[in-house]
Amino acid sequence: MSIDGLPPLRDVIARHGLAAKKSLGQNFLLDLNLTAKVARAAGDLSGATVIEVGPGPGGLTRALLMGGAARVVAVERDERCLAALAEIADHYPGRLEVISGDALETDFAALAAGYSNVRIAANLPYNIGTELLVRWLTPAAWPPFYASMTLMFQREVAERIVAAPGDKAYGRLGVLAGWRSDARIAFDVPPQAFTPPPKVTSSVVQLTPRAEPLAVDATVLARVTEAAFGQRRKMLRQSLKPLGGEALLARAGIEGTRRAETLSVAEFAALARAL
Ligand code: SAM
Repeated sequence: MSIDGLPPLRDVIARHGLAAKKSLGQNFLLDLNLTAKVARAAGDLSGATVIEVGPGPGGLTRALLMGGAARVVAVERDERCLAALAEIADHYPGRLEVISGDALETDFAALAAGYSNVRIAANLPYNIGTELLVRWLTPAAWPPFYASMTLMFQREVAERIVAAPGDKAYGRLGVLAGWRSDARIAFDVPPQAFTPPPKVTSSVVQLTPRAEPLAVDATVLARVTEAAFGQRRKMLRQSLKPLGGEALLARAGIEGTRRAETLSVAEFAALARAL
């Protein structure tokens, strides 16, 4: 038995035949000390509702429940995992709800409705991680339904999320994350911590939504950053030509000779407003 009174994850995987599928981005964390560290990065979970995407055999799910989450709602696409997750639900009566389905088709705000102190925590499938993050950063209404997000990404993606102006990794994702949240890398996780090991290092990113992000339309901001970073080595008067070039830049009070990577989030917001 493990520390939580449930069988070790290796046994769970063997008993339920959960050989990892690459197509589902399955790289499992089997060390409960490590999943506990991810859960701790999510902050004080007592009384919290935690939304998890992709619980798989349940390593992080178990850590979140052990960490004191009042309720975990976990969305898993792989039906093979459901029996293993049902055992965890039995062990923590009334505290784990498993939703069998695709996270890309899930209305997360509806899952959170009626609950306060909602947190998102997940070791995300690498192929949909960025898409989910962008959706969570651009909901129809702000403030969002969650108080924080604690998410595992490939290190390279994590660097793009937390990048600041002037950083090599600064681009569309960094502007979006910086606009709506305070984002930082909590810690790295080496490939050998996963089963099977991925090719690259992963990082846990902690995002806290800004109470009052600059007032900008998300779609317009995306158009500006797409054009600016689409030709990141060019001066803005060139890369933003299709959106109005010099005239747009003048309205926003930004020199046309600058390049996208030097602009702060506030300056991108000014450009979006001018557009
Ligand atoms: N949380 C587990 C852990 O840390 O060991 C598993 C993480 S694994 C990187 C990603 C999980 O997401 C897998 O269990 C996979 O089946 C699930 N998954 C993949 N695509 C999904 C989707 N579209 N919707 C919901 N879950 C998905």
